[in-house]
Amino acid sequence: MSIFIDENVCNGCKGLPEGRCERICPGNLCYRKESMKAAIRDQSACWTCACCVKECPVQAIELRLPFQIGSNGASLKVRLKRDKTIWTVWDARGHQEEFVIQAKHVKGD
Ligand code: SF4
Ligand code: SF4
Repeated sequence: MSIFIDENVCNGCKGLPEGRCERICPGNLCYRKESMKAAIRDQSACWTCACCVKECPVQAIELRLPFQIGSNGASLKVRLKRDKTIWTVWDARGHQEEFVIQAKHVKGD
């Protein structure tokens, strides 16, 4: 699996001292280039935890699935809503499917 950052979508988290993906990555792999577009330092060091995918507010980051899981070109993006996580999977032909995970609230939330 690998991370792909779409520079046409990334807005550099304008106004923030660091990109959200930069801040959240546990491996310190995401950074903003001079152009303020995000990039990943070293794909081989990424353990595909998907924190950056979840954190990006404009869905500029996607997780590319390996051939064995989704054939060439399959990928995964995620949007966070207040009480749900919505995963969208694209297969190699561009068909998409959504998986919605409802957050569980414990008493007192
Ligand atoms: S998937 Fe995880 S380890 Fe890889 S770049 Fe994103 S936040 Fe960092
Ligand atoms: S979180 Fe998204 S918009 Fe912000 S810098 Fe990273 S890729 Fe760009």
